[in-house]
This record gives sequence, structure tokens and C-alpha cells, in this order.
Amino acid sequence: MAGKDDTTLITAGRDSEKSLGAVNLPVYRASTILFPTYAALRAAHPLQTDKPYYGRRGTPTSWAFADAVAEIEGGSKAWVYPSGLAAIAGALLAFLDKGDHLLTMDSVYEPTRVVCEKLLKKKGVEVDYFDPLIGEGIAALFRPNTAAVFLETPGSLTFETPDVPAIAAVAKSRGATVILDNTWASPLFFKPFSHGVDVSIQAATKYIAGHSDAMLGVATANEAAWPRLRDAAGVLGQCAGPDDVFLGLRGLRTLGVRLRRHQETALTLAAWLEARPEVRRVLYPALPSDPGHAIWTRDFSGASGLFGVAFERTSETAIAAMLDGFKHFGIGYSWGGFESLALPAWPSRGRTATTWRDPEPILRLHAGLEDVDDLIADLDAGLARFRAAL
Ligand SMILES: *Cc1c(COP(=O)(O)O)cnc(C)c1O
Repeated sequence: MAGKDDTTLITAGRDSEKSLGAVNLPVYRASTILFPTYAALRAAHPLQTDKPYYGRRGTPTSWAFADAVAEIEGGSKAWVYPSGLAAIAGALLAFLDKGDHLLTMDSVYEPTRVVCEKLLKKKGVEVDYFDPLIGEGIAALFRPNTAAVFLETPGSLTFETPDVPAIAAVAKSRGATVILDNTWASPLFFKPFSHGVDVSIQAATKYIAGHSDAMLGVATANEAAWPRLRDAAGVLGQCAGPDDVFLGLRGLRTLGVRLRRHQETALTLAAWLEARPEVRRVLYPALPSDPGHAIWTRDFSGASGLFGVAFERTSETAIAAMLDGFKHFGIGYSWGGFESLALPAWPSRGRTATTWRDPEPILRLHAGLEDVDDLIADLDAGLARFRAAL
């Protein structure tokens, strides 16, 4: 499987005839598309994907990216959005109408929760949150009007790993659409469509673009879900800038090598941190000690570079002292670029269905592509500052 994916990353969305022999497809910048005749204008269809119709409806650049991601995710077709959050909101709006009920995982990416609270609820959608570890127990939360389930694996900040196939099987038996945020694993390390998912979302801003220089999202659907996803994206006018799409395509080519290195470094850092006396536990399903390890081993083929650290004792002052002196771990939102990052987090603030028991703030780390010894030295010095400030 890994060998095949690595080849797909190189070949997907490329057509040397279309790009006149250039290895990379040129960037198509287009709003107006000129038709040669009146008859051609009348014959064209807004949803055609073999030739452009109007810039917002797609260009060879956006189709190449969408097709490439869909192929690697293992889905049918994909739509490109201007950010990961736009893809999330777009997918939710596509499958939920007034009077519908949505089940959302309690530890989703916080802005996803805001979409549920500030947009969907106001538009008449009922939303309930569920424990990420609920498994097939989710059946008890279904109502006759449950139209969709929104998952993220593992969940943001706390990295609890849901049993996606078990939850998806219940959803399928109730006729609900399963939407999954697959950003953490990327399309390489978790195959959503072989685990029962109907729509898979990538914040391509993260590992796919991979260099912290683009905002981009993509949602891939299976055959049954595609028409609704596509029609909603069209109605909402969703499209991404051509340069960002190009950066997404370019990032895809090296996703495999980058991701394996992120994984190797994250595993080393996680194991090192786990042995530290200041650390209560490391939140990373690739670690054998993590409660999600069995599911991760069963369902994933790898882990990315993002994980959490919960401390025995912690304080905002101590976290600030650690972050302010770091040489290599930058302080900032997002992740998935080549550089290491550190961020404080308060998981209890973003959940209502479950209780978070570890001391807060916790720390979220992104393992970048720097030398791992330099990163360990940085963490070692950071923990000394942390201890001194506690
Ligand atoms: C960052 C992130 C998003 C949102 O992506 P943007 O491109 O920043 O809008 C969605 N889901 C997860 C899990 C993320 O980490």
C-alpha cells in the first residue's frame, strides 16, 4: 500500500500532454472563459470538468488538485475550497437542512464547533456532541432526524482516537452521512473511504501544502455524497486562488517523505517527553501507552507530527516561560509546515459532552523537519524554564 501511494503522489493529477511536456501543470488564472461561438456558449454546462466554463467553477489547475487528492484519499470526486474551515462549513451545509440533527465529536477542531454553534444552530439545525470514545454506543444518540455525524481522528488538542468504522456503521444503518476531518493523518496515513466515511476533509493548508505559505481546503466525497457536496459548494461560490492550489499540488509530490520524517521525529520527541518527570502523559496515539493506540494500530498506517503533552503540574506562567525561550519551536497557530511549533491549549474549554481531567494548560507540539537532537535540546532547556517558573 505504501509503495503504491508513493507512486500515486507523483502521478496523480498530472497529464504531460495538457502541460505541454512540463512536469508541473501551469497555473491557470481565469475568471472569464471565452467560447469560440454562440453555439459553444449554449452547449457548455457549468459542471463540465473537461474544459472550463467560468473561473469559479474550476480550472485545469483546481481539477488537477481535486482529482489528485480524491485519488489518494480513495474517494470519488473532490471540491477545492479557500481554507480547511471553508471545506468543513461547506460540507456541513451541504448535508444539513433546517430541522435536521447533527452529531459532532466533542473534541473537534474548535472552529468546527463554532460552525455548529454560531451557524448551524442559528439556521435551525439541532446539534449534539458525543464522547470521541463512544464507539457503537453512538446508536443511543441517534434521533429520527439525525442527518449527519461529524468526526475528526484523532481529535484536535487531545488526540483521542474514535472508532471510526464502528461509528460509521451505525450512521450507515440510520441513513446518516459521515463527514470526517482527516487533516491529522493526511490522505496517506488514514484511508477514510475504507472505514465507512462518506465525505473526507483536508485542511490542505497543513501537510498537503506543507510549507506554511498557503490557505487551502479540499473535501472528497464518495459517489453517493458527491452531488450534494458539489452543488452546495457551487451555490456558496467556493473556489481557491490558483497560486494556492498550485502550492497544494506541488506539496503533494513530497508529502510521503515529509510525513515519514515528521512521524519519526514526533515519535522520538514523544518518547523522550514521556520519560520526563514533569510530564503526566503524552497524547499521541502512535505511542503504545496512549489509550487510542489499539485503534490507531488497526486503522492507520502512520502518525503525523502533531501531538499533545499533559503535565503533572502546570501553569500559564510556566508554559509562557518555556515557549518564550525556544530556539526552534515557533509560537503560532496552524501546523503541518516544515517548522516545529508549540502552543498552549485548554481542552476543557471546548467540550461539553465529556470532562477533561488533566491539569491545564497542556502543550501542543508540532515536530518539524529540523534535526531531532536540536529539538530535544530545545525541549530540555524549555522544561528547565518551565520548572523554574512553576
Ligand atoms: C487547521 C485545521 C483546520 C482548518 O484549516 P484552515 O485551512 O486553517 O482553515 C481544520 N481541521 C483541523 C484538524 C485543523 O488542524
